[in-house]
Amino acid sequence: MTRKNVLVFRELPDDQMARLRAAHEVTVANPKRADQRKAFDAALPTAHGLIGASYSIDETVLARAPRLEAVSSISVGVDNYDLPALRQRGIVLTHTPGVLTETTADTLFALLIASSRRIVELANHVRDGQWTHNIDESLFGWDVHGKTVGILGFGRIGQAVARRAALGFGMPVLYHHRREVECPGLEGHVKAVSMEALLAESDFIVLALPLTEETRGLMNASRFAAMKRGAILINGSRGAVVDEEALLAALDHGHLRAAGLDVFAVEPLPQASPLRRHPRVTALPHIGSATHETRYAMAVLATDNLLQELAGERSECRVP
Ligand code: NAP
Repeated sequence: MTRKNVLVFRELPDDQMARLRAAHEVTVANPKRADQRKAFDAALPTAHGLIGASYSIDETVLARAPRLEAVSSISVGVDNYDLPALRQRGIVLTHTPGVLTETTADTLFALLIASSRRIVELANHVRDGQWTHNIDESLFGWDVHGKTVGILGFGRIGQAVARRAALGFGMPVLYHHRREVECPGLEGHVKAVSMEALLAESDFIVLALPLTEETRGLMNASRFAAMKRGAILINGSRGAVVDEEALLAALDHGHLRAAGLDVFAVEPLPQASPLRRHPRVTALPHIGSATHETRYAMAVLATDNLLQELAGERSECRVP
């Protein structure tokens, strides 16, 4: 088999690097690190394959990579990639669906419970030495079990959240989708509704959508106003699906009770962002899939995908 040039732009576990090196010439250069930027730029013109995550592979990058055949993303979301430019050049893009579904759903459900029961705030209350007498109702939270959850983005992760909510916590689940969805095992627990009904009836709204031109800014001031008073927003999709200014306004007016956010329009969240310290925001540093087991499984799948594509085989994880 012909050895090709692979550019690894986000670090991989040693054993996956060894698999790549056994088949190809490999350069490791993370363009987000100032000391590796030059090496990334230098490797692009000869690269046949790219593998990595969390970096924008746009038209400018692609223009500097004339030999590129395949890009393997170590993520399920593909909003960092210029899909039309890739298609036009006939460059294959693969991603890692499925292996991170349950872990990401765990993260979203943890955020949901933490936001409603004020877990982080109250753990800090203890840590800061403020637990000097029994708490009063000013520090009570709100129940999770039995409440209604509305899910926007009823795919793999959205449905995994629905299973936790419906089967674990007795929560009625609403979703709004462009087409009929079959949910084996959840019959009778989930209901397809209009966007208006989902916004008006849900105690929790969980976002598990991809970022696309259609979903960018989907949660805006008018949609927050249409949510039930006292509802809680959980965002585990991409930050830009939410208008953050409008979210802050909805929290400050008291219309929304709280927000649990794993993703932000700009990451890492800027020091000056009011979302960092807002008393009713639980903010996480984009940890949806960040467990040892799942990040390893993603690296293995992404490596499989690239090796297959560079060998002229068709990976099952091609982005259409
Ligand atoms: P998925 O199975 O493709 O699910 C996405 C769902 O969203 C699909 O059912 C899709 O419907 C639906 N959708 C797309 N556009 C929509 C719209 N405008 N209105 C309503 N529904 C819409 O993907 P997944 O594996 O669940 O991942 C979903 C997203 O989660 C990823 O794209 C990524 O952005 C995010 N994510 C975040 C983390 C994290 O660390 N926080 C981790 C993993 C994933 P169709 O089937 O009709 O297209």
